[in-house]
Amino acid sequence: MSARKYCPTCDHAPLKVHDFHGEEVDVCRRCQGVWFEKSNLDNIIAAKCDQVEEADYTDNLGSHQRPARCDCPDCGKRLQVFHLLEDYHLDLKVCVACAGAWAPGETVSRVANSSAIKLALEDMNQSTSWKTWVFEFFLRMPVEYNMRPRRLPWVTYALILINTLIFLGYFFDERLTWLAIDHFAAMPAEIQSGQSLWTLVTATFLHGGWLHLAGNMYFLWMTGDNLEDALGHWRFLGLYLLCGILAGLVSVLANLGGTIPSVGASGAIAGLFGMYLLWFPNASLTFMFFFWQKKLAPAWYFALWLGLNFLGMLLGEQGVDYWAHIGGFVAGLAIGAALRGRVWRSNPLLAHLAGPEVQVRR
Ligand SMILES: [Zn+2]
Ligand SMILES: [Zn+2]
Repeated sequence: MSARKYCPTCDHAPLKVHDFHGEEVDVCRRCQGVWFEKSNLDNIIAAKCDQVEEADYTDNLGSHQRPARCDCPDCGKRLQVFHLLEDYHLDLKVCVACAGAWAPGETVSRVANSSAIKLALEDMNQSTSWKTWVFEFFLRMPVEYNMRPRRLPWVTYALILINTLIFLGYFFDERLTWLAIDHFAAMPAEIQSGQSLWTLVTATFLHGGWLHLAGNMYFLWMTGDNLEDALGHWRFLGLYLLCGILAGLVSVLANLGGTIPSVGASGAIAGLFGMYLLWFPNASLTFMFFFWQKKLAPAWYFALWLGLNFLGMLLGEQGVDYWAHIGGFVAGLAIGAALRGRVWRSNPLLAHLAGPEVQVRR
């Protein structure tokens, strides 16, 4: 049993021993701050992050800021303020003599998650390279910088597979193509009169050509894996289909009485964009301004994407269901805003990465 310790920030409040993720740590009842001995912290971090076997938290510390105005509860030396991680501007008070660390109550969960935060920051802060440039220049698709999902996004993969198989199933035969469009595409006039309402769903699984399919599937792959990770598999699938239905309804309203059938997953995927930009504000997507590739915040990227949709509509470009894009996007934003608190509460890591402490290099 070690000597009685006192809170370094509250005047002479004694620290109480508490169990924290299986480690005995010292907690101040008054300010909820936690004193970690070095071995406590290393063990907690290693247990929290499945990608780390043995942690030495001091390897991950960010830059030294200044001396703190309080002393180590163990050895009485002056504590030093460090950023928790590089690129993560949250303060941790560390004793450089015994390597113990003091974390204010509200940052404790971030400290415990620090290894996972560090790995995600490394992915999010990567810079563009000649490879990403060549990729975007020729394929016209953005490159994504975000945390890697922790669970296999099998619903996303299944959706991509199903869309592709359906496309391959009819596209090479003109008769089958017409049959598919006849039965499964969404026609505004029909839906308006309450007929074939299920085509609002089936239409999202049809595509008009290779580029249409490839573009949609790329964006589904890019945003779907992280969203599925955040939501869980079935909720993700439900919201994907819901966005597709809402996008289809907006398209019907914009084309009342229309007899041009509408196909494509774009509306459902535009819904994913809305959720993605609200839940992953510190991720980046690249945009190619002529020859200059730039990492953008998702909000900026999708604002540009929305602007291009309005532009296309104004210029009267045919063959694209702009209203389905816009409808799906607005539906995704509304759903994203409604669920954001819940999603962040059930994914602390995701919430930490969305915080203002994160310094993303763009
Ligand atoms: Zn205290
Ligand atoms: Zn010390």
